[in-house]
Amino acid sequence: MYDLSCDRVTKAFGKFVAVDQVSLDIPSGSFFSILGPSGCGKTTLMRMIAGFETPSGGDIRIKGESVLSLAPNRRNVKMVFQHLALFPMMNVGENIAYGLQCRGEKKADIPAKVRRVLERVGLPGVEEKQIGQLSGGQKQRIAIARCMVLEPDVLLLDEPLGALDLKLREHMKIELKQLQHQFETTFLYITHDQSEALVMSDRVAVMNAGRFEQIGTPRELYDDPVSGFVAGFVGDANILAGKVAEISGDEVLVNLDGGGGRIAARRSDASAVGDEVEVFVRPEAMRIGEAAARASLTGTVDSLLFNGANSRILVRALNDQLIEVADPGQSGSLAPGATVTLTFEARRARAFARRQG
Ligand code: ATP
Repeated sequence: MYDLSCDRVTKAFGKFVAVDQVSLDIPSGSFFSILGPSGCGKTTLMRMIAGFETPSGGDIRIKGESVLSLAPNRRNVKMVFQHLALFPMMNVGENIAYGLQCRGEKKADIPAKVRRVLERVGLPGVEEKQIGQLSGGQKQRIAIARCMVLEPDVLLLDEPLGALDLKLREHMKIELKQLQHQFETTFLYITHDQSEALVMSDRVAVMNAGRFEQIGTPRELYDDPVSGFVAGFVGDANILAGKVAEISGDEVLVNLDGGGGRIAARRSDASAVGDEVEVFVRPEAMRIGEAAARASLTGTVDSLLFNGANSRILVRALNDQLIEVADPGQSGSLAPGATVTLTFEARRARAFARRQG
């Protein structure tokens, strides 16, 4: 049984197709994210699920039942917006009670429900506080409590961390995931921030220009991207441009542009000798200093960027391109200006047909 299904959902605004035949099935109690750049159609899709926008085609089902004919307040979904939309003139308790009152809940039952949901979001006893007295993180939790008190089948979250500063955002990622676990309710989260999607989600749909390019676990998207778009959007990647020189099984040998060397990579879409490709290599797959016969390129150390576990060595190679190499103690005695050889295993590099633009 799926909490939420979309079956070839489409939305056109005039001739412009904002959401193009999108399908997904979200199992009960999971954290599912839609990840994509600004304008790819995420918000439009979420607004159709909530009922604020009517699809031009396709079907949306909640717990197996089509909801297309139901008004937003008749669908058992709730939505948390980036700006949270808490009522500033009401205290916390009144904010949370509001939805219960609108729903005609028995007056006598409301205080206990408010108390319980505040306990579950880790803010017991704050009923009397004014919204303005809460920290950014507390406001987030109240916004979630206000939805969860209504026991929705699916909670929709539209970039709710977007307005927070970086440190709080890092903290709230973990907290949101814990809250989702606690409530065991399906969360559908939309974001353009790949690290939010990777850290929190059970599964992620990567969206581009109105379509889903790939749906998978964070690890599948990171290790096995199906397109250059996914490889470039999810996680850091060096993109090396070249032409296919040889094909052997599921590997290609690629002559890098600008006479930069020859490298081997996994062949990820149908390519033929002579095709222009982009090879994606993660910084942590790059090794320094082991010259290999089949796959290597030579460059000059540009700079050493210290950032704890995320330290990087930047190497200038090919046509003056800066290549990021993760630095788990590789930099040693390296200094800017040193000539180095970069290698990587073919299975950790992906060649995709070169994208336009
Ligand atoms: P962002 O992260 O910037 O909010 P998004 O991925 O959520 O982007 P949408 O807001 O869904 O993207 O918009 C998708 C596309 O549809 C955009 O090109 C947008 O301009 C267009 N669009 C959205 N709503 C309308 C509308 N009511 N009329 C015409 N075009 C629209």
